Amino acid sequence: MEPPNPTPPRTHLLHRSRSHWFHSAEPYAPSAPLEGVLEVDVCVVGGGVTGVSTAYHLKEMDPHVSVALLESEVVGFGASGRNAGQLIVAFGESDFKAQMRRHGAAKLREAYTYIHEGISTIEALIDEHDIDCDYEQTGYFEMGLRADDSTTLDEYLAFCREIGQESFLEQISEAQVARSFQSPHFGRAVFDRRGGQFNPLKYLRALKLVAQRLGVQVHENSPVVCIEREPSCIRLQTGSGTLRCQKLVVATNAYSHLLPGLEDLGMVRSQSPVFVYANVTEPLSEPHWRALNWPRRAGVNLMSKLFYSFAPTRDGRLLYVGGYYARVPQGNDMSLDISSNFLREGPRHLTSFFPALSDLRTAQSWGGPISTTRDFVPHVGLLADGRIGYANGCWGHGMPLGTRNGRTLARLMLDRQAPDAESWLVTRNKIDWPSRMIVSPLVRSLSAAVRRDIRKIGRKMQPRLIFEK
Ligand SMILES: Cc1cc2nc3c(=O)[nH]c(=O)nc-3n(C[C@H](O)[C@H](O)[C@H](O)COP(=O)(O)OP(=O)(O)OC[C@H]3O[C@@H](n4cnc5c(N)ncnc54)[C@H](O)[C@@H]3O)c2cc1C
Repeated sequence: MEPPNPTPPRTHLLHRSRSHWFHSAEPYAPSAPLEGVLEVDVCVVGGGVTGVSTAYHLKEMDPHVSVALLESEVVGFGASGRNAGQLIVAFGESDFKAQMRRHGAAKLREAYTYIHEGISTIEALIDEHDIDCDYEQTGYFEMGLRADDSTTLDEYLAFCREIGQESFLEQISEAQVARSFQSPHFGRAVFDRRGGQFNPLKYLRALKLVAQRLGVQVHENSPVVCIEREPSCIRLQTGSGTLRCQKLVVATNAYSHLLPGLEDLGMVRSQSPVFVYANVTEPLSEPHWRALNWPRRAGVNLMSKLFYSFAPTRDGRLLYVGGYYARVPQGNDMSLDISSNFLREGPRHLTSFFPALSDLRTAQSWGGPISTTRDFVPHVGLLADGRIGYANGCWGHGMPLGTRNGRTLARLMLDRQAPDAESWLVTRNKIDWPSRMIVSPLVRSLSAAVRRDIRKIGRKMQPRLIFEK
């Protein structure tokens, strides 16, 4: 068999930083930038899922509160318009025994319920506002890797039992997996019937319209370049306008360390950005799908350090994310350049996972920033200046988490205490990264160790999966 052509098609060069969702979207007219002076009760900075959900929930909970949302580019520009579109229930570090030791079953049960509530909130919003975002409630697979002996999967199952999640899960034997997926690398699996897949950008744009109808003032192309805290108000400057507010929500996730004016409140060290990359194939033909035999067209996440996730899109493509290629940016660089190794190796790995797809071309590749906290537990709560709420540390579970965080932040801003203000995620003592001077090298050395492990797993696989350094 001819090896697949490693030369990326021209589309890569033309659309480097655009996700499939942006590329395939309807024409979009951004809301006008902020100009002149605006005064509101609450300002939300960041037009990703966290920011839009916060703005929506603020107006939904109190129609009298005035709310503005400022987005530096367009709604969905960050990770929210660049992700794989999977709604999954995931939380914390991937070492489940360590999670249990560190936090205990009660807190973890609360955290997993919180993420699950994020999915339920998205589903309720889609129903209530008739949002067209291609949502398919397929559930998803946590897939063991044969080369890993599926030990992580066993640990995950024991963990889920301890925190009362097992009723959502169904164990799938290796023989069943072999009948359902034509992949030489898949072992046993766990099927989680919650969640599914959607088009995150369609969802977000529609939710923005709903929020605007409720009265949220949205300004796109309005980067906040300065935040000044005064006793009587908080003053924000964008290139062309000034906004004064009583309360502020910082919903900038992986960009949070760059916001000028919050350095003394610990925003610089609360999270660290990591870039993750995705490829989407051209649409699979019906013979391709028949050859794969993929049940329910549900998303598949490898439960292994060799992290790959595969998500079928509504129009029959495969969208996949490769964890090995994650990049920790240098300093304050947030450029969206795609990993050239992922461009070259991703299609080869896809063929190794699914030999029936050897003739399938990549249609597009892109990257986006996720945010990591020191213990992988997301941050949501109030800063030491109690007028400012924030959330960050959203990674591959960020669509449900950000949606749920939006509800929490709205309650905190409206001084509605119960139940979120008392929840563990809000009240817990958040651990910051050490000084920014060493945080990037530290995260880079942690990722280098994970990459070494991944290369070892790749060498054990049959056929081998080769990763360049
Ligand atoms: C390749 C990839 C695949 C992923 N797959 C999934 C998945 O399948 N499922 C899932 O749930 N999650 C997934 N995620 C993670 C998920 O997308 C994020 O966790 C989530 O979108 C974070 O949302 P957010 O609103 O907190 O941040 P973002 O979406 O990043 O939004 C932050 C916004 O703030 C804006 N901003 C920054 N600075 C300023 C400023 N100074 N002034 C004004 N605005 C500013 C940015 O432009 C941006 O739009 C994936 C992420 C990536 C990159």
